[in-house]
Amino acid sequence: MTAQVLAAGGPAKLFIGNQWQAAASGATFETINPATEQVLAEVAEAREEDVDRAVAAAREAFEQGPWASMAAAERGRLLLRLAELIERATDELALLEAQDTGKPITDARRVDVPLAAAVFRYYAGFADKVQGETIPARGAFVNLTLREPVGVIAAITPWNYPLLLASYKVAPALAFGNTVVLKPAEQTPLSALALARLAAEAGLPPGVLNVVPGFGPVAGAALAGHPGVDKICFTGSTETGTRIMEAAARHTTRLQLELGGKSPNIIFADADLEAAIKGAAFGVFSNMGEICTAGSRLFVERPVHAQVLEGLQRAIARFRQGDPLDPSTRMGPLISREHLERVLGYIARGREEGARLLTGGERGEPERGYFLRPTIFDQVRNDMTIAREEIFGPVLAVIPFDDIEELIRQANDTIYGLAAGVWTRDVRKAFTAARRLRAGTVWINTYNMYDPTTPYGGVKRSGFGRELGAAAVEEFTQRKTVWVAL
Ligand code: ADP
Repeated sequence: MTAQVLAAGGPAKLFIGNQWQAAASGATFETINPATEQVLAEVAEAREEDVDRAVAAAREAFEQGPWASMAAAERGRLLLRLAELIERATDELALLEAQDTGKPITDARRVDVPLAAAVFRYYAGFADKVQGETIPARGAFVNLTLREPVGVIAAITPWNYPLLLASYKVAPALAFGNTVVLKPAEQTPLSALALARLAAEAGLPPGVLNVVPGFGPVAGAALAGHPGVDKICFTGSTETGTRIMEAAARHTTRLQLELGGKSPNIIFADADLEAAIKGAAFGVFSNMGEICTAGSRLFVERPVHAQVLEGLQRAIARFRQGDPLDPSTRMGPLISREHLERVLGYIARGREEGARLLTGGERGEPERGYFLRPTIFDQVRNDMTIAREEIFGPVLAVIPFDDIEELIRQANDTIYGLAAGVWTRDVRKAFTAARRLRAGTVWINTYNMYDPTTPYGGVKRSGFGRELGAAAVEEFTQRKTVWVAL
C-alpha cells in the first residue's frame, strides 16, 4: 500500500476531485517511522491555496455533482463497497498504519482497520434510514421537516488512530449526503491517502472525498477558518480545539469537537481484581497511552491498593515492547521525539511533586525509536500535575481512596469529561458511580470499548457533539421546516 500511495515512487500527492495533485507551492514534507526514526515517505504539503481548491471541489460535488441528487440507498451501496475494499486491504492498511504511527501491527490489524470497515458498513446501512417528521402545528397547515445534509464537512484528525478516527467522520458525513475535505495529522498522513484511493476505487464521484495532508497551523487553520466549510469535525487536543473554535467563529461554522481527557478508572475493593487490574493496564497502556480515553488516573480503594499495584507490575511485564511490525509486540514507540520529550517532562514533574515512581519512567528498548517504558506512579494526589494534565503516553497515576463521596469529588475534579471506568461487583455502587461521574462514556467492569452503534464524545473541556451511532444523524444533517397552508 505504501507503494500504491506513493504512486510512481515520487512524493505522495494531495487527493482533490478524484485526482492526485502536487501542492500548488510544490512543497512536500516527510513522515517519519517512529520505530526506526527513518523517513517513511515524502508527502505533498497542502497550504491555503490547496485547501481552497479542495473546498471548491467538495462544494461543487455537493451543489452540482451526482452525490446530492443520488438515492440515499445508492450512496449506501457505494459506501458498502468501500467498507469491503478496506476489509480486503486489511494487511496493507495495517502495515501502513503501524509504520506511520508506531502502533503494534497486531492492534492495527485487529482494531484500527476492522473497526474502520465496520464504521463504513454501519453508516452504509444507515444512509437510507434517515427521515423527517410531520408536526401537529396549530391551524390549517401541514407542517413537516426535511432532513438535509449540512454541506461541506472539514474533518481534521489526529495521529493516534488516523484511519479509524477519519472513518468516524467521513463515513456518516458521506452516508447522509455531505461532501468532505479530510486533513490528516502531519505525523500520519498515509492511511488517509490510502482511504482516498479506495474511495475512488469504490466509485465515489469526484470531489466527494478530498484529502489534503499538511500542517495544523497552515492547512488545518486554513480549513477551520474557510468560509466555504459548513461544519468542522475535529479530534485532537483541547488546546487546538479552542483554536479551531476561534477560527470557526469567524464564519459561524458548525462544530463538533472530541478533545482531551484525564479519565478516572476506579477499582472498588469488591471488584473482580484480576479483571480490574488487566482492565486498568489495558486502559492506560494500550496504544502506548496515546488514546483520548486513557484511564490515566487509577483510583484504588485502600484495602486492595497493595494487591492492585503488585498485579499491575505483573501485567506490565507482559506488555512486550519493541518492533511494531513483530506480531507479538504489545507496545511500540511514541509518535515523535518531541512527544517523547514532553512525556518525559511530565515524568520528571511527577517525581518533583512527590509522587512515588513505582516502575518505568525511562526510555525503553530498542535504543533507536521513541520508546518509553510503561510508567506507574503511586501515591499521587489529584492536584499534582500528572493527575491534572493530559499526558497522552503510557503513564499511570495511582490515587488511593477511602470514601466514595471523596472519590466522586476527586474523579470529577478535572477540566475533562471524556470517559470513566468503574470496577465493582455491586450493581448499586456501579450505577451510582455511573450516574455521578461527569463523563461522556462510563465503562463498568470493562474499559476502552467502542462500537459503531454506540455514541462517543465528551463533556466539559473534552468537547461536544457525539460521533458514531444514531447520534451522527443529528451531527451530519439539519432539519428544514416546511409549512404548507391548506
Ligand atoms: P498534537 O498537539 O498532539 O499534534 P493536535 O490537536 O494539535 O494534536 O492535532 C490534531 C490535528 O489538528 C492535526 O491534524 C493537526 O494538524 C491539526 N491542527 C493543529 N493545529 C491546528 C490549527 N491551529 N488549526 C487547525 N488544525 C490544527
